[in-house]
Amino acid sequence: MPIFTPGRRWQPPFIPFKKDSFNRRALAKIEATVKGPLFGCRMCGNCLLQETAFICPMECPKGLRNGPCGGSTPEKCYVDETRPCIWYKIFERSFKMGREEMLLEVLPPLDWEKAGTETWGDIVDQAKKVGVKTIISGLTNREEGSVSKTLDSIFRPVRQPNWWQGDSEYHAPNTSREPASELERRLKAGEFVVAAEVAPPISIKTDKLKQNIEMIKPYVTAINFTDNPSATPRMSSLACSKLAVDMGAEPVMQVAARDRTRVGMQSEVIGASALGMRNILCITGDSMALGPCPRGQMGILDMDSVQMLWILRRLRDEAKYLDGREIKSPPQYFLGAAASPFSSNMKFQALREEKKVNAGAQFFQTNVVLDADALDEWLNEIAKRNLLDKVYIMIGLTPLKNYKTTAYMHSKVPGVFVPEKILKRMEIAKEKGNEQEEGVQITLELIEKIKTKQGVHGLHIMAVGWEEIVPRIVTEAGLINTIPQA
Ligand code: SF4
Repeated sequence: MPIFTPGRRWQPPFIPFKKDSFNRRALAKIEATVKGPLFGCRMCGNCLLQETAFICPMECPKGLRNGPCGGSTPEKCYVDETRPCIWYKIFERSFKMGREEMLLEVLPPLDWEKAGTETWGDIVDQAKKVGVKTIISGLTNREEGSVSKTLDSIFRPVRQPNWWQGDSEYHAPNTSREPASELERRLKAGEFVVAAEVAPPISIKTDKLKQNIEMIKPYVTAINFTDNPSATPRMSSLACSKLAVDMGAEPVMQVAARDRTRVGMQSEVIGASALGMRNILCITGDSMALGPCPRGQMGILDMDSVQMLWILRRLRDEAKYLDGREIKSPPQYFLGAAASPFSSNMKFQALREEKKVNAGAQFFQTNVVLDADALDEWLNEIAKRNLLDKVYIMIGLTPLKNYKTTAYMHSKVPGVFVPEKILKRMEIAKEKGNEQEEGVQITLELIEKIKTKQGVHGLHIMAVGWEEIVPRIVTEAGLINTIPQA
């Protein structure tokens, strides 16, 4: 295995925002000259190479610094198919080197004031603070762990600035507090819950949206409102969620990192909390590459979903903004995240899910599951990481409406696995003219298998424009009795 990983794809380094001192500029030049060819360094100003098995994560077109997105595959990046998923490579190598647990550390978003500048100067400054004598004695001491402790005393404060203080630990939410939402209350009470997704409208007309909320409300505990899926604008999740609150339904407000800065995200969630939203689902969001032209920024995001969770957990539990300011009346919410059982390698995904739980995720809503047996493998990996008593898992289901969408999901949707036998069943159903009925039966069969699995606490139905099927599915799956009518 080569130690160095020259940029698989050359990308220019970031440009510093302001002019630094001559010495710092000279050091930056040297650092870029050395690390450019060796690692494909983009001079992000906060080097993570030690944590990422010496592969620079800044090759990721989303700029993710905490692991792969839900669309990760062993073959290629879904945003840019001409390059491999760099996070898949990082995970693969970390596991081979036995350094996978290092991937659990929650790493900060870029400090844009440092982007384009060197990291070496910061390391030298920190080494001076630790002291040459202490470093030499730490590195030469034969006591177990002495070398890594010494290196950590130099590198950790550089990669984990005071405003972030990320770690690899699980930060349990305060269990003595009242549940923030009905969804949290029911999950805590051990009920098997159902949430369903409603697509926000593409205009300001809310008649259909209201109709859908009214129709679904009695059958589910919460209703998810997506946040511009496929990077295509629609009515905001915040507006739909507020409408649902006003109608007596409980929303899960989805917030995609893709469309927000760290400032905007905190502000929006504080505002949403004040308006009555109590379930927040943090997602990175589909890349702009999936959206229509003209495309927005495709090269980097201001933060990823793990960082969102970390920021929002601290906002609630430590009553602090990211910049350290204290909040007298902090928001209360139930924090969720997406999980993707069938993306790339289940071991890798489970590690990524652990990181999300450590950062603050209290519940997962998974990507579409169409293979109940293969789901066991992912649940086993989750169990091995001791996550089953730390997070509630709601399995994502999409009732298949026709063969065409099934085939599309099979070949085009990243992170979704459609077994051949389901594809075949839908193809035969198309010939017989009963696609919708077959799709419903497949969903009911899946629910029958999934609902008894250990570690599964509920379902998340993503009907994708076929919302009227939700009441039938919930009723015929025998789940209605667990959900009192509103
Ligand atoms: S993590 Fe940042 S500093 Fe380190 S190699 Fe990558 S771009 Fe360069």
